[in-house]
Order: sequence, then C-alpha cells, then structure tokens
Amino acid sequence: MPNPVICTISDACCGCGACSAACPKGCISMERNGLGFSFSIVDPEACIACGACERACPAIGERSVDQLQLVSWAKSDSSELLDRSSSGGMFGLLARNVLSEGGVVCGAAFDDGCRMVHHVLVDNEAGLDALMRSKYVQSSIGKEVYRGVRNAIRSGRRVLFAGTACQVAGMRGYLGKLGESDLFLSVDVICHGVPSPELWSRWIDYRGEAFGSDVRDVNMRNKTTGWLSYSTAYKHVAEKDNAGGIESQVYGEDWYMKAFLSNASLRSSCLACPAKRSSGSDITLGDFWGFQNTHPEVDCSKGVSAVLCNTEKGERAFKAISRLTVNGPTTLDEVIVGNPSLISSVCPHPKRDEFLNDVASGSSIPDLMAKWKFRQSLRQRVRGKLSAFKRRLKKLQILD
Ligand SMILES: Cc1cc2nc3c(=O)[nH]c(=O)nc-3n(C[C@H](O)[C@H](O)[C@H](O)COP(=O)(O)OP(=O)(O)OC[C@H]3O[C@@H](n4cnc5c(N)ncnc54)[C@H](O)[C@@H]3O)c2cc1C
Ligand code: SF4
Ligand code: SF4
Ligand code: SF4
Repeated sequence: MPNPVICTISDACCGCGACSAACPKGCISMERNGLGFSFSIVDPEACIACGACERACPAIGERSVDQLQLVSWAKSDSSELLDRSSSGGMFGLLARNVLSEGGVVCGAAFDDGCRMVHHVLVDNEAGLDALMRSKYVQSSIGKEVYRGVRNAIRSGRRVLFAGTACQVAGMRGYLGKLGESDLFLSVDVICHGVPSPELWSRWIDYRGEAFGSDVRDVNMRNKTTGWLSYSTAYKHVAEKDNAGGIESQVYGEDWYMKAFLSNASLRSSCLACPAKRSSGSDITLGDFWGFQNTHPEVDCSKGVSAVLCNTEKGERAFKAISRLTVNGPTTLDEVIVGNPSLISSVCPHPKRDEFLNDVASGSSIPDLMAKWKFRQSLRQRVRGKLSAFKRRLKKLQILD
C-alpha cells in the first residue's frame, strides 16, 4: 500500500495544507489535534503514489536560500494606514496596488466571532481591512483558497499572497511553475511562530465572559500607546444590559500574548522552522525592532517595517509603492539584531510540553492562568511601564 513521505514527517508538518490541495485524488484531509493544529491524514486506499503531495510540501527536501536584491526600512506616509497596520503599513500599500489593477489579495482574517483565523481572498478595498494586522494564532488555508489563487492567476489577474514563510513555501509548492508568473507576488512575514488555535478560541470565549459580552474584533497590535508599547484591544458587541466597548491590555500584561512571547504555545514545526529565509517569497516584511536606536532622526512612533526584496519582482513591487512611503537603505545585519526570528527558530519555553498538555486536556483559561504566570522579561516590564506612563500622560492631556 502506498505510504507517501508526508505520512512520515510527524512534528515537522507545519499544517499549510498544500499537500491536500495538490492531491489529484482528494485523499488527504487536514485534521485538527487537541491544540487545534491541523495535520495531514492520507487515505492509503485511495492514494496512487503520484508524489504531488511531496512536491508541494515545504517540510520535505532541501530549500534554496532566498537571495537578497534590496533591503530597506520603510513606513507609509499615511498615519491612517499606520494606525490600521501592525508595523509600517507595507502590506496595505502592496495590497492596494494589486487591487487597483483588478487583482486579488489573499491573507489572514478572523472568522467565527474572532475565534478562528483563516486565509481568504478579497478583490476590493472594502474587504482588505480584515486581512490587515497580525493575528498571533495559526491561520488555516483551505483547498478552495489554493484553487482560488491558481484560478485567478490563470485568468490573468495579479495575485498578492501573504502569510508565514511556510505558507508561502506551501503555496509556491502547490502552484509550481505558475508561481513564477509575473502575476503572482508573494510576501512572507518575519515569523516568531504560531500559537495554538484551540488556546486562542478558548481565550476569546473567556474574554467575552469576563467582559460580559462577545468579542467582535481584536487588534493585537493596537498602537494607541505607540508601536513600541503596543496593546491588545478587544472590541465587544453591545448587548442588552451592556454598552459594549473596547477592552485593552497593554504589552506584556495580556496573558495570551505572554504565553505566545514566552514560546509556550507555539506549534512544534516552529521550533525547527523549515522555511525561514527559504520560502521563495518575493518580499519579506517585519517590524524593524531596534530601528529607534539606529535612526533616532526618524519618527517611528506609529511603526516602521523592515522590507527585504528577495527577487527582482519583489523589488519592482516595492519600488511601485515607495513614493507613498518614507524609506531608506539598511542592511540585513541591522534587521537581524532586533529580529533574530528572521533567521533562527525560537527556543521553546522550558515547560512548553506540560503547558500544551494542560491545554489539550481541556483545562479552563482561569485554571491555566492560575498555574501558568509567564513572568515578563526585563524588556517586557520596561515596555509595559512605558506604556502605562504614556497612557497616564494622554489622560492628563485630555483633562487639560
Ligand atoms: C504569527 C506571526 C508572527 C510574527 N512574528 C514576527 C516577528 O517575530 N518579528 C517581526 O518583525 N514580525 C513578525 N510578524 C510580522 C509583523 O507582525 C507584521 O505582520 C509585518 O511586519 C507586516 O506588517 P505591515 O504593517 O506591513 O502589515 P499588516 O497590515 O500588519 O499585515 C499583516 C499581514 O500579515 C498577515 N497575517 C496576519 N496574521 C497572520 C497569520 N496568523 N498567519 C499568516 N499571515 C498572517 C496578513 O494577511 C497580512 O498580510 C509576525 C506576524 C505573524 C502573523
Ligand atoms: S501520492 Fe498522490 S495520490 Fe497519494 S496522497 Fe500524495 S498526492 Fe495524493
Ligand atoms: S504540505 Fe503542509 S500540511 Fe501537508 S504534510 Fe507538508 S507541511 Fe504538512
Ligand atoms: S516559524 Fe516557520 S513553521 Fe512556524 S509558522 Fe512561522 S514559518 Fe511556519
């Protein structure tokens, strides 16, 4: 009976779903484990050993290192776009450019009352906002999304696909030669890793219960107190005896974010990432952490991006939007100093397995919070204090 290599990779599977979309017999299903992470399951009875799944899979085989054409710092010249983005608003500008030419954009959006994150396709500006901003939970990509990307390119439309490096590698594996078309532009984000979808959906339910009304929207990179001291903002639905409103937890105080940044809730594949600097993406985007120290003359209070153009196509796309940005040259080393996740996988929390066992065995959020404190690092404490100070200052200005 056929036994494709994807059946043997176990924890190396990053859950991108490319194999399932590529299988001509439709015999690979994506199934969630107790943490909500999806893994591929092959029906051996239906498999014809064609190898399409292995060719698409980012976790199998050697990957060539992305070549750097240009590295830049950049931020949108629109403060409205900066407010709506996690970093310097580069994704929004690239997306608007593609949409203005009748193209399609594919990225991660919340679903099911913010409990889940899925990749979706949009072809208009109104739909774009849902794709913007980082959602720190694994996004799933269904077969219909893979096919939607392929069909749009085949019909002559430009497509911008954005996601984590493994998702870009999976999409490129699925598209094969079509992925080299000038119509296809891929963007990967510098990736720390992706947390458990099960933990996230339980956390959202808990936030709803704690506040007294359901969560309607989440901004995990709220910049009200600045880009460096961002907060997580939960917008609640107004209900009968509740006016709704926004609940905000500053950087380093939100328990879910503490679990994420302590590397306790990440997927196993993220501990030995198969796609860092080798996704084949045209552009890599990230926060340019540390930029404020090397470029104090530039106002980066609302965010600044590190932009790595890995291909000529990527460089052309960045140049097409650069008149709408403030930007300048930099080096790969400068980006890596504040952002080691660009090239290295993170070290897991020393008790990650125990924490994830607790999540998978169904512990409630209050029980998890009581047992797992995830104490902040010194850097996080300083950022938290800075953020609280800024909020106080803002209040005083309002009173004045
Ligand atoms: C899980 C995750 C971890 C990250 N880790 C780092 C890091 O360690 N260092 C760093 O510098 N930057 C990291 N980033 C990237 C950073 O947060 C910004 O997304 C990036 O700088 C782009 O910002 P922007 O202002 O250009 O656009 P934004 O409008 O903020 O664009 C966000 C983009 O990310 C995509 N996206 C959002 N959530 C997900 C998701 N769950 N899965 C896949 N794609 C998603 C959206 O589709 C969109 O394309 C991470 C992002 C994610 C999603
Ligand atoms: S080898 Fe071919 S038929 Fe078998 S699971 Fe992989 S893609 Fe499907
Ligand atoms: S293609 Fe993606 S989902 Fe399928 S086995 Fe490989 S890593 Fe896992
Ligand atoms: S760290 Fe690597 S494996 Fe994990 S989500 Fe990011 S790109 Fe994928």
